[in-house]
Parts: sequence; structure tokens; C-alpha cells
Amino acid sequence: MATRATEPTVKFLDGNLPSLSTAEAAEAVRGLYGLDGTLEPVVTDRDQNFNLAARDGRRYMLKIASAEEDESSLDFQARALLHIERQDPDLPVPRIVKTREGRPFGSFQRRDGSRHLVHMLTYLPGETMAEGPVSPALLNHIGATLARLGRALRGFYHPAGGREMVWDIRQLPKLAPHIDVIGEPGLRNALRKAARHFADEVMPRLEGMRAQTIHADVNVHNLLVDPARPDRVAGIIDFGDMIHGALALDVGVTAGDFFIGDERGLEPACHVVAGYHGVTPLEDAEVDILYDLTLARVVAAAIIGARRLHLRPEDPGYIGRATESYIRAFGQLVRVGREAATRAFRGACAAAPAVAARLAGKGQDDEAAIDALIERRKRVMGPQLYVFYERPLHLVRGRGVWLYDAAGRAYLDCYNNVPQVGHCHPHVVAAIARQAATLNTNTRYLFREVLDYAERLVATMPAGLDTVSFVNSGSEAVDMAWRLATAWTGRKGALVMADAYHGWTTAVHALSPAIRAHEPPAPHVRTIPAPDDYRGPIRRGANDIGPRYAADIDKAIASLREGGYEPAALIVDSGLCSNGMVQAPEGYLKSLFERARAAGALVVADEVQSGFGRMGDHMWGFGAHQAVPDIVTMGKPIGNGHPVGCVVTRHEVLAHMVKDETFFSTFGGNNVSSAAAGAVLDVIEQEGLLENARTVGAHLKQGMARLMEKHGIVGDVRGRGLLVGVELVKDRRTLEPATEETKRVVNLMRELGVLVSREGPHDNVLKIRPPLVLKREEADIAVDALDRALKAL
Ligand code: PMP
Repeated sequence: MATRATEPTVKFLDGNLPSLSTAEAAEAVRGLYGLDGTLEPVVTDRDQNFNLAARDGRRYMLKIASAEEDESSLDFQARALLHIERQDPDLPVPRIVKTREGRPFGSFQRRDGSRHLVHMLTYLPGETMAEGPVSPALLNHIGATLARLGRALRGFYHPAGGREMVWDIRQLPKLAPHIDVIGEPGLRNALRKAARHFADEVMPRLEGMRAQTIHADVNVHNLLVDPARPDRVAGIIDFGDMIHGALALDVGVTAGDFFIGDERGLEPACHVVAGYHGVTPLEDAEVDILYDLTLARVVAAAIIGARRLHLRPEDPGYIGRATESYIRAFGQLVRVGREAATRAFRGACAAAPAVAARLAGKGQDDEAAIDALIERRKRVMGPQLYVFYERPLHLVRGRGVWLYDAAGRAYLDCYNNVPQVGHCHPHVVAAIARQAATLNTNTRYLFREVLDYAERLVATMPAGLDTVSFVNSGSEAVDMAWRLATAWTGRKGALVMADAYHGWTTAVHALSPAIRAHEPPAPHVRTIPAPDDYRGPIRRGANDIGPRYAADIDKAIASLREGGYEPAALIVDSGLCSNGMVQAPEGYLKSLFERARAAGALVVADEVQSGFGRMGDHMWGFGAHQAVPDIVTMGKPIGNGHPVGCVVTRHEVLAHMVKDETFFSTFGGNNVSSAAAGAVLDVIEQEGLLENARTVGAHLKQGMARLMEKHGIVGDVRGRGLLVGVELVKDRRTLEPATEETKRVVNLMRELGVLVSREGPHDNVLKIRPPLVLKREEADIAVDALDRALKAL
């Protein structure tokens, strides 16, 4: 092992620790502060600290400085703490205790003649975060508190801020020679490379960034938490490493320290960044450099720790002991890479204002403005148009899973499945804008966009479903499917689920019992009861539930025939959404499709809600059921909000229909729609949204299911991927639907900032159907809001 690193190139401040006896410390306290009490040593790496329980019941932290520490450094700390106290008195930081002479620090002379600077702080109660788990909410609050601290220090200047500090990551180039103490050559080289990159590429960029006095070392050892409020920072301590430097350094240091190289990867760092950004929005250039700063922190800590282990193996201190985890974190960060990390930090920032608004509980709609909008709507759009919520929302902006109202309040959108890849996804927005600025025409002309898209779409389908027709909405898609089926079979009878909704056109309205409650069923339509294994006649736990429920179709077919109609089509929403998100039991769709085909009908899978990865695992809702339809209809999420509808079928089925009639939709498949739809597929692939829907959906479902233990009203939690239903009942034995309560919960959750709706024949199933980019911690927010809404019922 090389040992070049004997001469430190920066002051490490971990040598010459003072070694006052408790009696000497008591003498110092008495002399300087006129206080008596019990002193207890506290082990640290730098000053010699004592916990003082004074006679009057108050507690303090006495700090005897290392001989290497000079007066200006203590003056810096003391003045900064006084400044913070004036600027943000509620920030949980220690207060300076002045000496009897009214000075922020003093000095103590030992019998051997040596002198030590002494200062004393009020004691902050709490445990350091090194001692317990750190939840996403806590990480977020750490970021927010760090930002608040930065704001409190914004106008503060002290010349000592420019002194050289070992934990200042800008010293990394000077720490680099100490890499030699690391034995493993591969690691040594990687660390050297990182340090060089930092010096050459990152330092020059840092110089151009906004700078001020910063704490520069907010980490688990310097953060306190009160076990009774585990999601809040109870204190920030240790201001000994403060520097004047780029604000972003503070974020990089803390994010780096919470990137501990475990299986959570970047997630903890992202929470910190989001929390910070919610209070002090980070500039683009700052977000761009965050990965480098995070990496630099990890590299610096690894070097400082390794040096400590090398020099004092018998007394490595927590810094030496943490070396391994910093080295692990380094490897993992390098593997993640700048690009992915920056994307993750950007995403965290996008969600941040919402989180901050939630924490601050701010944002009230302007009731008068909302009333005026409702009035205008009634006048110009007719009286009936339904709006969600008792207090309707006036939305002005959306991003990812967040929506913002006119007052700036953020709402976690757990309802809208149209923005499948997140509201206003930049990739989709850019694709639409680019194409709109280039060409938008119709399919009477040749252009590539629509072909590129159709080919990609067909590639996601089961073999044989190879021909695509473009329309503009889900209703139109189902309308066309119905025409395809009637033309192909030469029949006029339809089989649909009870409570189905397939759209609003005249033909499809007849196929939508959900909106025909007050009309007699259309003579050519028969319904099939939902395979509800929670409240239906065959319940969970019984054998062959799927095929047994599927047998109900035979009765519907027989009844149709009695009425003089042969079945042309069975139309099923694979997610059974309007049936209350009932999950199709195993074997159900397969058996249902087989029976419909045996009766001569074509099978239409209406994937308007369940498609494009909604149900995790599979691109299409029917995908998990070994059931292949003849026609697939799509809408809603296909263009992430841009109106597009699609029908995919076999070549001969379409050919048969257009034999005698032309098919053309002016807007169907136009260049811009095709570009939007293509961009949606890009995002689903690139961001792994099927997998996200599966894992975050499972996490969400689990969280909701846990609420069953606390709240008797939660009767059932079901779903697949990010299509989750929570059924509320007055009584778990009788299953009496809690319809009114469900309505109240939907409105309470809206007040709590989480958007859901309700569904099902009894309107007692919470419909949870967020954009597929939902993160685990956002799912936790939804669970927490439901918990609180149920408590408030
Ligand atoms: N099919 C299903 C399953 C739907 O959920 C909907 C809309 N809720 C439609 C069709 C009709 O789609 P659109 O509103 O785009 O006409």
C-alpha cells in the first residue's frame, strides 16, 4: 500500500482533540458561564463536548474547541446562529449561550498553560437520525428544513466562510492524494478519476452558481428527530463546517449522505432533493450538477474515512466505520450514472411543489371565482354538465401525477387515466408541438407517422390482430367495433356486461347499461352479471369461480335468441371498471370469449380504460387472461390527452366491412395524433411503466389493504396494476354498501389534496386510477389521505 499520504493537504481537525477532565470542564463552565451542574462527556470527532445538566434544570452542550480551531471560526458559528435566530426563530437549531461577559465564546486556560476556546449552546432534545429509520416523509422534511436553513442564512456573511474546511467537497482535489491509503487498485483508480472529473469539470461550473453561507454538512449525525414525531426534523446541529459556497453544495452533500448505497438506490436522495426544491426551487444548472455533487460527497467521505481507518485503525470513529458504506454508495452511484440520476432528480423536483404545499397546508380556492366559472358554464354549455366534487376544482396546470388549482394548491391525481404517462409529459408535449409545427393532415395522403405508429401498435398485439383503424375517441372506437362485428356476422344482437359503459354515440349508448338506468334495455342487447367474487353469488375461495361466472353468458345468449336476435358481438372492458373494478377471476375472460365465439359472435375487448399498461405486467387488460379477442378498442390514454381512438382487428374483418362502404375519419390518424400516440409508447417503454404499474400498484394495494385493519368500513381492496378499487360497506357481513360515506370520502380526500372518484353499481367503490408514473411515496400519500378521510367520516 502506498503511504504518500502522510502530510495532510487540508486541515483534518481530528487530531489534537482537547482532553479536559470533567472537573476541568466544570471549572470552565463555572468560570465562564457561572453555571453549576452535572457534566457528561459526549463522543465526537472534533471538539470535546460535554452535556451539561445545570442545577436550574436546563440543559446545554459545552464545546471545547480543538487547538487547531481559531477564534474567527467560532465567531463565524456564533454570529451565524444569532443570524438564524433573528431570521427564522422557529428553525430548530441550537442557540448560543453568552458568557458572563456577554461574549459568544470564551477561553479556558488549563493548569499546564494550554488554552482552549470554549462555547456553549442550548441543548436540543431528540435522537440523531443515525439511530433510527428514515422514512420518505422524513427525508422530504430534511430537504425542506435544509432549504429553510439556507434561506435563514441568505443575508449572512462572515470572512471565515472562506476558510479551508476538510468537509467542504470543493477540497476534493486536495484530498485526492489520500486515495493512496486505499488498497484496492480498481477502486483507487475509480476514485481518482472521479476526483479529477470534479476538479476539471465540476469546480468551474460551481463557481458560476449562486453562493452564500451554507451549513455544508447536514447528515444523519447532525440531524435530530423526536421519536414521537418521526417524520419531522427536530433539530439541526453542528455548525462547525459552515462555509461560503454554492447553495447547491448543501443539497449535494445531504443527498450524497442519504445515498447510502442500499437497495433503495437514489430514492432517499430524491426525497431530499424534492423537499429542498419545494422550499427553494433549484435552478436548472443546479439540478444538472447535483449528481456530481452527490458523487463528490460520497468520494470525499470515503477518502476521509479511509484515511482515518489507515491512521487510527484502533479508533476509526463513525467516519472511519462508515467508509465501507460510502465506498458501496460510490460504486452504486457510478453504476446509476449521471443521466439517469439527473432524470430522477428532475422528476423529484417536478413533484416537489406539491409536496411542499401539502406540508405547508397552504392553498385555498377562491370560492367566488369558482362560482363565476360555474355560472358561465351553465350559460354557455348547458345546465347539466357534471363537475367533480362538492367544491369543484379550477385546475390550471398539471405535471406528472400532480394537478394544480388556480390558488397554486397541488393535488395528487389518483383518478385520471388519460394522462397515462403523467400530465404534460415533456416527451409527448414536444412530439405534439414538433409535429404541429411541421405538418398536420389526414390519411387521404401518404405520411409516415401514422404507419410508424400502426406498426408499433400491432407489434404489441396477439398474432392475427394486425390491422389498425383510427378514430378520435373511445366511443367512436366502440361504435366502429360494433359496425365491424355486425358487418362480419350479418347479425344484430349484442352481449355486454351489466353496468357496462362503452361510450355515448347512438349505437354505443344502447350498449352501455350504466347510463341507461332510466330507460328500458335496448331490444337487441342482453347483459351478463359481473363476476363479482366479493358480493356476487359465487365468492372468493369457491372453486372454478371464473368459468362458473362465465356460464352466465349462455343465459344471455338464449334470451337474445328468444328476442329474435343472434349475437354479433360480446363487448367487454377487460378492467370491468364500471362494474366497480371487479377483478375478472381466473379463467373468466377465456371461458366467456369461448362461449361467445361458440355462439357465433365476435369478441370485442374494450381497452379504453384497461389498456396501455394500466394493469401492470401486460400492455392489454386481456393479456393476463390467456384470452384473445377479435377486435380491440382503444381511447383515453392512447394520446395521453390528445384525442385519439383506435380499433385493431384482423385484416379480413376490416376488409369485409369496407367492401361495401367506405370508412374515413377526417381527424383519425392525423400526423399530430400519430406523433402523440407514438410518444406515449416511447415513454411507456423508456420509463418502464408496465413494471412501475405492477410494483407501485402492488404497493398501493397493500397500503390500502392495511387500512382494513383500522377501518371496518373498508370491505374489499382489489385491483391489478394501477387500477385499484376500494369497496366501502356499512357491515362486512351483510355487505350493505356505504354509498353516502363513499361520496363523503371522495370529497374529504379532495380536501386533503388527493383526487379519486367512485364507481360501481352501488357507487360505493373508490376508483383509484392514477397516471402510471406514480411513485411509491406518492402512493403512500394516497393511502395516508384515505386513512385520514376515513377517520374524519
Ligand atoms: N369504453 C370504455 C371502457 C370507457 O371507459 C369509455 C369512457 N369512459 C369509453 C369507452 C368511451 O370513450 P370516450 O369518452 O373517449 O368516447
